[in-house]
Amino acid sequence: MLAENFSLYSTLIPLFMMAFGSVILLLWLFQPIPTYFLWYAASTLCTGLAVLIITVVSAQVLPTFSFIPSTLLFISCAMFTHAIHLRLNVTTRWAFLLVLITIAESIYVYFSVFDEQYAQRMLVLTITITLIFSHNLKALYQVKLKQKLDRLLRLSLLLLSAVIALRTLYLFVVLQPTNQILSNNLVAAGTQLIILCLSLLMAGLLFHSAYQDIFQQLQKERNLDPLTGLLNRRALEERLKRLKQHSRSRQNAIILCDLDFFKQINDQYGHKVGDVALQHVTEIISKAVRKYDEICRMGGEEFLILLQDTPLDIAIQVAERIRSGIETTPLIQSGQVISMTGSFGISFFQHFDEFSQAAQQADLLLYQAKNLGRNQLHWQQ
Ligand code: GH3
Ligand code: MG
Ligand code: MG
Repeated sequence: MLAENFSLYSTLIPLFMMAFGSVILLLWLFQPIPTYFLWYAASTLCTGLAVLIITVVSAQVLPTFSFIPSTLLFISCAMFTHAIHLRLNVTTRWAFLLVLITIAESIYVYFSVFDEQYAQRMLVLTITITLIFSHNLKALYQVKLKQKLDRLLRLSLLLLSAVIALRTLYLFVVLQPTNQILSNNLVAAGTQLIILCLSLLMAGLLFHSAYQDIFQQLQKERNLDPLTGLLNRRALEERLKRLKQHSRSRQNAIILCDLDFFKQINDQYGHKVGDVALQHVTEIISKAVRKYDEICRMGGEEFLILLQDTPLDIAIQVAERIRSGIETTPLIQSGQVISMTGSFGISFFQHFDEFSQAAQQADLLLYQAKNLGRNQLHWQQ
């Protein structure tokens, strides 16, 4: 029953695969990692088990039982494909896969038990695996992928399918007539190595993409104000640091805006409506500025808009658009019309080293606007 050249060393690779799969499975159970890792873990476990059976069972007995590792291998490939599909937002056609695996397995059993043919079995194995990997090519090709890593993952899956398909063709056309044993053939062994490398690359890409997602999410939480989605003070400071190093000297403007009597809105309508009012104003500001202007919520009901390379008249135009937008677009909440206004201080600076001075200046001008009746702009001459 045991393979003739069986040694414990030969079981190391499949055992390692199974241990690796189990670790990811445990990780998935106890950590909030994406579902595609569950499928990847199950796929690795299945492959490990299939390889273990092939390694341990004697070559004389293997044909009789070889439908077990082959089934495990098909299921493993289907789960691996599904893991990639989940990551890339592509549908897996399980019904098709089920029919495909059943038919393939029947043919495989025929060439194992009734008419023992090694080359035919290999042919069935590789054709089926190619079909599993590429079974929803159209959707895979059509899906819009924003991230570079995801596009690389898709390319790897396509390459993997292509390499296995070419290998199948080679087996069919060259090897099968000569009845050579696969492991003794350089092309067969070489393509096997490419397939192994591609699968490892894809596993790496899956892990790296998940890591990148978490990193981007953390970055977002760190830099954006959760209520309005605008930059927070920390993000603005980081951006300024970068601008200090790279920007040329030119006229830049700061618009500082503070909503008038905002406390009254909270007192009169409640804090929740106050929050909606802040989102409403955010929308007005976002529509009034240009794409490349930076809007930051400095805290409370105070906003700073940074306009790079902007002369005085344009900065005033933008601020006026925001002021009149706030005044003429009241918030409607449960049938109530909630009017708001804002006061503005506008200052200018040449180099980003002078930013904090200019921000102080804008603050002073805003204070003047408040004192002189609110709902108005004051700018640095
Ligand atoms: P002024 O015209 O002088 O600016 O008057 P004001 O009432 O707007 O100014 P004040 O600084 O007295 O009050 C600001 C208010 O903004 C107090 C606070 O309750 C409210 N506020 C700050 N942050 C938030 C928030 O995230 N949500 C809500 N709903 N209210 C906030
Ligand atoms: Mg205020
Ligand atoms: Mg304020």
